[in-house]
Order: sequence, then structure tokens, then C-alpha cells
Amino acid sequence: MARKQKRIYLFEEGKAEMRMLLGNKGANLAEMTNLGLPVPPGFTITTEVCREYYRNGGKLPEGLMDEVRQYMTKVEKKVGRKFGDPENPLLVSVRSGAPASMPGMMDTILNLGLNDQTVQGLIKQTNDERFAYDAYRRFVQMFGDIVMGVDREEFEHILNELKARRAKELGKDPKEVRDTDLTTEDLKEAVQRFKALIRERTGRDFPDDPWQQLEMAIEAVFKSWNNPRAISYRRINNIPHDLGTAVNVQTMVFGNMGWDSGTGVGFTRDPATGKPGLYADYLPNAQGEDVVAGIRTPMDIQWLAQNMPNIYEELLSYAKRLEEHYKDMQDIEFTVEKGKLYILQTRTGKRTGIAAIRIAVDMVHEGLITPDDAVLMVDARLLEQLLYPQFEEAALKQAKRIAKGIAASPGAAAGRVVFTSDDAVEWAKRGERVILVRHMTSPDDIEGMHAAQGILTSEGGRTSHAAVVARAMGKTCVVGCRDIFIDYANKQFTVNGTVVKEGDYISIDGTNGVVYLGDVPVVPSEIIRVITGEMKPEESELYRYYAEFMSWVDERRKLGVQANADKPEEARLARLLGAEGIGLARTEHMFFAPERLPYFQQLILADDPKEREEAMAKILPFQREDFYGLLKEMDGLPVIIRLLDPPLHEFLPHTEQEARELAERLGKPFEEIWAKTVRLHEHNPMLGHRGCRLGVTFPEIYRMQVRAIMEAACQLKKEGYNPKPKIEIPLVGHVNELIVTRRDAEEVAEQVIAETGVRVDYMIGTMIEVPRACITADQIAKFADFFSFGTNDLTQTVFGFSRDDVEGKFMADYLEEVPGKEGTPILKANPFEVLDREGVGELMRICVQKARSVKPDLEIGICGEHGGEPNSVWFCHEIGLNYVSCSAFRIPVARLAAAQAAVREKKEAEKKAAARRRRKEVVEIRD
Ligand code: ADP
Ligand code: MG
Ligand code: MG
Repeated sequence: MARKQKRIYLFEEGKAEMRMLLGNKGANLAEMTNLGLPVPPGFTITTEVCREYYRNGGKLPEGLMDEVRQYMTKVEKKVGRKFGDPENPLLVSVRSGAPASMPGMMDTILNLGLNDQTVQGLIKQTNDERFAYDAYRRFVQMFGDIVMGVDREEFEHILNELKARRAKELGKDPKEVRDTDLTTEDLKEAVQRFKALIRERTGRDFPDDPWQQLEMAIEAVFKSWNNPRAISYRRINNIPHDLGTAVNVQTMVFGNMGWDSGTGVGFTRDPATGKPGLYADYLPNAQGEDVVAGIRTPMDIQWLAQNMPNIYEELLSYAKRLEEHYKDMQDIEFTVEKGKLYILQTRTGKRTGIAAIRIAVDMVHEGLITPDDAVLMVDARLLEQLLYPQFEEAALKQAKRIAKGIAASPGAAAGRVVFTSDDAVEWAKRGERVILVRHMTSPDDIEGMHAAQGILTSEGGRTSHAAVVARAMGKTCVVGCRDIFIDYANKQFTVNGTVVKEGDYISIDGTNGVVYLGDVPVVPSEIIRVITGEMKPEESELYRYYAEFMSWVDERRKLGVQANADKPEEARLARLLGAEGIGLARTEHMFFAPERLPYFQQLILADDPKEREEAMAKILPFQREDFYGLLKEMDGLPVIIRLLDPPLHEFLPHTEQEARELAERLGKPFEEIWAKTVRLHEHNPMLGHRGCRLGVTFPEIYRMQVRAIMEAACQLKKEGYNPKPKIEIPLVGHVNELIVTRRDAEEVAEQVIAETGVRVDYMIGTMIEVPRACITADQIAKFADFFSFGTNDLTQTVFGFSRDDVEGKFMADYLEEVPGKEGTPILKANPFEVLDREGVGELMRICVQKARSVKPDLEIGICGEHGGEPNSVWFCHEIGLNYVSCSAFRIPVARLAAAQAAVREKKEAEKKAAARRRRKEVVEIRD
């Protein structure tokens, strides 16, 4: 029989590496306990128990509560109190904590263990009746809401009634009465009325037995793993749905025991800019939940420095210890109870892209980490943020400034005001830019925040939900903007007399917190301005950090990084961002320009080769000019130009009216044009007459394009440039498709070389985007000078998903939980965003092996969305590709991801070598 698994760990029994089992919070509480930091004692129920709970169909495993009792006894011994003891009760918090940090996603219950008897014990311990009843009413309220499902608002309603009564007695305006004005008698009444409310709404009594409270709370934490906002957060952040959460049961400490108590949250460095030094908020005489929920706006940590300097120094020393230990910036929660400091949580701090780079570079200079570590430490996706735009300075001077809040997440955003997340999602779907304006955000607003350009809240601090989540999303965000008064009912807000209605434009600056009326135009980021020469490198501190960091990146990576760019200006930007060539230039975009489209339409609809030749003669100069610009911009670097790829009908008139106009322009009868258009209609255009199939049926088109490429290249060569064109045939599935098209291309290329008398080296290769090409890669490789995986189409053809139809049709269902089968979404990530390693990736691996078995040096790359997605880039490194290609703004992301893959590989190799050495030593000792 298998040994029974340990289900519960005391904090001192765990460690940081046990994150998967103990969750992030539990593992770090354990690590801090063992480091000797003042952590209130407690224990962690493992994530495995959560999985067991779901396997059992939502039942706590047999015997779990007996084990909980054993561990509670150990904690009781440590703190000298007893859980449920009316004389000297131990109170606990029940805290969720998954292996991946999910801030605010799951609910925590504080002060658990209180009832009418134990509250008397709490009064004895603290000598503070009001405090004890305040703790009690908070507990009943939280428990009633989180565990028993009674609406939060209903409790607030009762509290407001009590406050109104108090207002009358004090002769105050009800709005001015605070929680702290409520008397002990008020609080006692609140507890009773809360309990009555719970009974009325649920038909069940509030459980007075502390053990029953604990059992129900544990179960509620497990349940909260699958509440819709947790699921939504996991989906947006690509966190697997089957990890489960741990439950932490921890001795309560109280930050609300007077002015020598308090609670705070903060970061060991500034999460927005990366500047060194503690960056925290503190709230005297309060419990932690007040800060996190943004209910009261906290004070700066300087309050603590001035009023309790010893505690402040102690906190600084722990911040330093934690950074030295974890070798990363930490996000901490702490509480002071009657002049004694406790640390309640630490985790790796979320940060902006700017901060990520600065922290990594500073930590290398401080000797905390190596450049290798720095490369691994920065989340590659964040680099995109550095390229975010800012407001145009001239326009900003004109702009009407209406308010200032707290700068929570950088960047500049302008859009139309909406007041609900649903509206944000709706409007964004219609293509509107929106700014989501709320009192505060909650996890229910995640989708709306995602859809918005930026978020503006009237309440909350730098660590409120809106701020934390926006930073993680890389959204511009301003919080705590007290000047604005939101009127949800009338869908408007007022600010110093100005009324801003739903749909009006506002602009928000996430770097300084300023809010403007109107749609202020935006300019490129500082990095972009430096690399484009608009700003001097010396003037930009950010650029210096960026440049140093990227030099470490480029020294380490093995994968090349190229750009997907169709136009010379795109190519220029890409090159400045570090592109080492163009991995994909699409030629079809060039045909859509209004002065070109008619000729192209004529080409497609031509009656005979002669007419086709005529149309082509008109198009050729345009194309030559396009390619000339692109090759010139990328002088000395390879440029892959893909021959015509999309279904022809995309270029044809879509309505009879358009067909009439076209007929007139071409001087042909409408009926004829319309009949041809109808004939060219395809049922499955994505699987239709496109890619090299066009080259096979209309060889003239490909020949024209090759001629345009080669004429442009030869011209450049004559002018002293060094063009490196690579001609790419799309959608090849059978080697013969490549043989035919390649023969034509070569013939034309050689003709142009002969005509111009200039020899330009060129290559002819193919895109790999259908499964048959992967399986027969050894045959195809013989006729290709290079391969490039077109993983958008390859994903489409491997899954059989139409890439134009999945979004908004069934993909959401595939990524969601299946009702009744929680924890098992069909897909963990959208395969069009994150490369599917098991299916698409496996075919790629086979393709690489087969191709290189006949051509060991064949150059193979990838273009398409995946080329700029870190996880996919790591995979490309693993299977031995030569380069990845992505859109310009993702080039720094791809460079970093490539470096990370290389560093990880190196570390793996070192580990293996060390293990080998150890084995060898053992053998030698034995000898
Ligand atoms: P989250 O994951 O949402 O941050 P936490 O488990 O950290 O949830 O709890 C929320 C708040 O409750 C924290 O800010 C913390 O200060 C407070 N808290 C949790 N456990 C305790 C405890 N044992 N004593 C005092 N405060 C606590
Ligand atoms: Mg927390
Ligand atoms: Mg394709």
C-alpha cells in the first residue's frame, strides 16, 4: 500500500521550493518562518487536498478534519491559546493561496473562531470590549458573505442603518459617521442582526462551533478556486486550471488595536519605476483587508518612519533580508500589533516593464545577482510596454487638465468614458477605444479592464486592486482620483463643475496621474524616441538601463531575431529595435492601395494572357518600388519576400455595386465581371485557391513578382548596396508544387541577372504551413534553400480550426471550464497565441529532423504570431531553429525570450555536468 500522503504542513516544515504543494503564500510563509522572520504561527493544507476535494465531487477527504485538529494543537502550544476556548481563545485567519500568485482572486476569512463565548475571552485578552465586538462583527460579515453567500451589500446596509442612528445622536451628517464612531452596543447589535440576516437568507444558522466554522471556511477556499473571476484571471494569465489552491490557517494578529497598531502593504522597490527603496502604504489602526480592498486610502510609509522609527527600521531590515534571500523584488504584507511587527506575506512583486529592467540591472550592480539571473528574471512580455506611447507634448499643453489622481501604471491612454466593465467589453468589440471609469475595480472587472485602453478610479491607493491588476496587464491606470464624482445611475461624472458623460473622450497619464478632457494624441515611447534619434541617449536614464540589459540579452541568445514587416518604415523601426533581417514580408498588402487595386483586379479577371500581361506591366513598377524600399532599408540583411498568398476573391468586389464600379473602370460589361466574381467565390477560401496554388495556375503572377524583386535587388546592387533577397513560396504541401514554382522563379531571376549584368545572390525557399509539408520535409528540403514555419496556418491546418472563425465562436468555450467538469478546459491556451507544443510543435520537430537529415545546414525559422510569444520562442530554441520572426514591437520580447532559452539550457548542462562529476567521485571513492 502506498504511504499515506502528508496533507498538512506546519509553516516550519515547508520551504519556498514546495510552491506547487503549499501554494505560493504557504511556501513563502514557511520560508520566512525558517529565516527567523516574525510570522504568526500556522499550517498549510496542501493543494493536493484541493485536487482530492474536486476528485471527490466536492467533498473534503475522509479524516482531514482530524488531522487539522492535530496541527491546531501544535499551533496552540506555540502561542499559548486554545482554539474555541472561551477563556483564552486562539483566533485564526483562513487564507487561500495557489501555486501561481493570483492577487485578490480568492477570499480570505479573518478572526475565525469567534462566537458569543469566545468573544468574552478575546475581551479578557485585550481588555478592549469594543475591539472584540468589532472583530466579531467583521468575522460574521466576512463569513456570511464568503462562506454562506449572503450579499456583501446587505451587511453594509445594516451597518449604514446603525450609522444613521448614530448620526442622529451625534447630530452629524450621516455621511460623516465612520465605522469608528459605532459604539460597542452598536457592534453587538450588528452581530445579532448579521446572524439574523444570514438565517433569513440561507435558512441556516450561523455556525457557532469554531470547528464547524473552520471546516466550512476550508471548503469555501477550495470552492473559490472555481469561482468565475478566478477562472477568468487564470485564463487571461495562462495559469493552468488544474493546480488547485492550498489553505493557510494562521494565528491572527491585530492591526486595529489602537494607534500603536496598523497594517501595511508594499514593495521592496518601486514597482512602477524600479527605483530602490521601500515603496509602501501604511494604515494605522486598521486590519489588512482595509488596505487591499481600497476601502480606506492609506498613508505613505513615512508616517511609520516618523511615528514608530524602530518598527520602520525593523521593516527595512526584513525587506533587505528578503531581497537578499529571494534575489528579487518582493511584495510584502505586514501588520503591527501593539508595537510588535509581523510579516504576513511575501511574494515576487509584480512590476512594470520599466521597473523590471531597472531592478534587474541595479541588482546586478549591487552584486545580488549575475547577468544570467537578470536575463531570467525579467518577464519577456513586459518589454513590449517600454515601447508604449506617451502624450504628444504640444497637444498636452493645449489639453484641458481636469483632475489628478495617483499614477498607478504608466503609459498614456485616451478613449471614450464607460462606467461598467460590460460596456467596456461591448464598446471595445465595436472598435471603440474606451477608458473604464469606476469608484474602484474588483476582480469582476478583469474582462473590462482588459478591453479598455486605460482605467481611472476615484478611490483606492497604489496597491488597490485596479493598480495591481493594471500593472500586471500593462494597462495605463490612474487610481484614487478624489476630484471626480461618479454618478453611475446617470452614466456621468462631475469634476470641479465639469460634467463628463458616457462616450465623452478623456485622456489619462499613468506616469503622473493627470486626467485630461478630450482625445489627446500620443507619441512614441522614450525608447522609441532614442532609437529613432529624436532624443539623445544621454538624456534618457531609461534607455541606458535598457541598452545595458539588452547587451546582456544579445550576448547570450543563439536564436536570430527577425521582423515581420511589409513596408519600409516598418522595416526601419524593426531594424532599430534589433531585427536582424525580415523573416516575412507579405506582398498582398501592397495590392490593396486604391491606385493599384484596379490593375490587380484586372489581372485576376483577365480574359486572355495578353490582357493579363498588360495588367501585370502596370503592376510591376509598383512592386519593384516596394521591394526596392524594403531591401534598401534592410541593406546587408536578409529579406524574405513571400509571393502572393491569399485567396483571390479577397481582392474582388464584394457587392454588385462594387462590381458595377469596377466594370465601368475596366470598360467591361457588368454581367461579365459579376459572373466571374461569382465563379471565383470559394466555399472554404482558407483551404482554397491560394498560396502556391496561385503560382501553379497563374505562373505569370509569380514570375512578375520575382522579376520585381530581382530588378529591385540588381538596381540596389548597382547603386552600391548589398541586397539579400530571399524568395518564398507559400503553402507548399507537395514537393512538386515547389519544383514547378521554383523552376519558374529561378528562370526569371537568372534572366534579370543576365539583363542587368549584375549578379545578386538570392535564395528560394518555402513556408511550411500544412502538415504534409512537415511529414515530407526530407523531399521538400532538397529543393528549398530555406524553410520558414508559418505557424498561423500550420496551427489552422493541424487543428482543422478556421483561424478567422475561432474567436467569438467556440474558442472561449474551449478555454473555459466545461460545466460539471470544472478544472478541465479543453485547451490550456489559445493555440493561435501560444504554440501548441504537443501537436503543432511535434510536427515542427519532425519537420526539422527530416529536413536536416538531407540538408544539415538548412536554415529554418518561424514567422507568425508565435515568433514573439516567449513560451513559443523557447520551444523554437529547443528544436534548433535558426531564428524567429515577429512584429516590430515584439522584437525586444523575442530577443529576451531567446536569451532566456539559451541561459536555461546552459544552466541545465551545468547541472548535468555537476551530477556526472558527483557520480564519478562516488565511483572513485568506491574504487
Ligand atoms: P490575498 O491573497 O487576497 O492578499 P491574504 O490571505 O493575504 O489575501 O489576506 C488578505 C489580508 O488579510 C492581508 O492583507 C492580511 O494583512 C490580512 N491577514 C491575513 N491573515 C492574517 C492574520 N493571521 N493576521 C492578521 N491579518 C491577516
Ligand atoms: Mg495578501
Ligand atoms: Mg500562411
